[in-house]
Amino acid sequence: MAANDASSQSALGIAQRQFDATAESLGLSESMRCVLRELKRELVVHFPVEMDDGSFRLFTGFRVQHNIARGPCKGGLRYHPNLTLDDVRALAMYMTWKTAVVDLPFGGAKGGVICDPRELSLTELERMTRRFTTEISLIIGQDRDIPAPDLGTGPQVMAWIMDTLSMHHGYSVPASVTGKPTAIGGSEGRYTAPGRGLTTVALLAMRDLGLDASGATVAVQGFGKVGSVCAQLLTEAGMRVVAVSDSTGGIHRESGLDIAALRSFKEEGGKLAEYGGGDRVSNEELLTLDVDVLVPAAMEAQISGALAARMRARLIAEGANAPLDPDADAVLADRGTVVVPDILANAGGVVVSYFEWVQDLQAYFWAAGEVNARLKEVMVRSYEHVHARAEERTTTMRQAAYEIAVERVAAATEVRGIYP
Ligand code: NAD
Repeated sequence: MAANDASSQSALGIAQRQFDATAESLGLSESMRCVLRELKRELVVHFPVEMDDGSFRLFTGFRVQHNIARGPCKGGLRYHPNLTLDDVRALAMYMTWKTAVVDLPFGGAKGGVICDPRELSLTELERMTRRFTTEISLIIGQDRDIPAPDLGTGPQVMAWIMDTLSMHHGYSVPASVTGKPTAIGGSEGRYTAPGRGLTTVALLAMRDLGLDASGATVAVQGFGKVGSVCAQLLTEAGMRVVAVSDSTGGIHRESGLDIAALRSFKEEGGKLAEYGGGDRVSNEELLTLDVDVLVPAAMEAQISGALAARMRARLIAEGANAPLDPDADAVLADRGTVVVPDILANAGGVVVSYFEWVQDLQAYFWAAGEVNARLKEVMVRSYEHVHARAEERTTTMRQAAYEIAVERVAAATEVRGIYP
């Protein structure tokens, strides 16, 4: 039994079950399965931070690396009150498959701190981030493991991480983190990349389903970095975004929401539950709306089998990681609902993170148009590859994407000669 043979219901258990099914269909050897379903390295840190009122609070953080067969680890850092080591392990494994399916020379990692960043002042957030960075600096760095933003983190947090690591070195190491502000080596187009990549594959999947984008309807769960950009770009492609939500609730307007106005409202700190330009909807109502496309872009495990049975969208493009549980996946596959899987659909962020890393290492920066064009090229190529394999093997795009990814990681592992 592997060290992390997780309970089948845990996030890691679900990720491992998905891997096991893929390993079975690829006929991988037992030893290869043992290696790839396990995490390579896990660091748990507990560290004190001084609060603004002079008190101290102890935080817990994680950095987990799944696999480095194809290159240094890459993966986001999440600040969330319900974060667990199990989630981080599962997300690290997803990152390995995600970087492989779009053919980047990276392995997978994930990390984060158990905290609600909205309850911390800016100075508390900075002190916490700098201390956390120091704690995990044992295992991160431009050649080893390169963090990026995720839920609850963004360019400012990445800037503090880069600065802290640079202080340790005595010189700037911009390639140690991606998703930074452009002023310190961030890439043009990084902030919009996950939403942009998601939009590209959603439109390709619509084309393959014979759905015309013009006038087609879409609902987006989660109006953050991924969901709000995707909603904006789908609107620009001619679609009607009829519902969006954040953690405070959702709004619905059948004639279409004004996404640009909503984005400004959110940027000014507004909560969607308090937005006046539509009717209130619950999370569940939003997910079961009669729309052409549904984009879950909030968090994991938002859609159970029971909920999936009531969903009416023809296409689901997964902006979030693992928003469907395995029962939901089975229900939707039976019904013929097309799902563009997370490891492909939301890979735009890590693709431009790769571009950012390359630009930092070369100290040579690209214009936004070039970044977006190269992102599109990678997303189109990866989508077509996954779609063709799904057609060829009469399987789902999720299964096809996993097969391509696991095959690549297994090939790298094997050719390095470490395992039979
Ligand atoms: P974010 O923090 O910018 O936004 C998350 C949004 O989801 C917020 O609007 C929040 O209010 C909302 N939300 C949270 N719980 C919700 C719920 N139960 N119902 C409705 N809305 C809810 O985070 P993000 O970067 O946009 O990430 C969203 C998802 O996409 C996560 O699963 C993340 O792992 C994944 N992802 C992010 C990136 C990236 O580069 N940012 C890349 C790939 C995947």
